[in-house]
Amino acid sequence: MRQTDESTDMDRSDLLPFFDALTDRSKYPNKPRSETNPNGEPTGPYTGRCKRCGSNDLWDDCTAYGCNNCGAVYSN
Ligand SMILES: [Zn+2]
Repeated sequence: MRQTDESTDMDRSDLLPFFDALTDRSKYPNKPRSETNPNGEPTGPYTGRCKRCGSNDLWDDCTAYGCNNCGAVYSN
């Protein structure tokens, strides 16, 4: 199910499955910051908002968290 990617020599076999999401952002809505964070609230770690797009639609587990809007993944 993993795609062949000739552009990188990196062995991705050790990466967790959600890293595959980084190569397929089309499934994320990618709403603009004006929609996700119209009031310009702080973003980034411990703010509950994605650093990249400002969305507060995040998922998290014990090792990482990520954004359901733009597909960004951050380690805890
Ligand atoms: Zn985001």
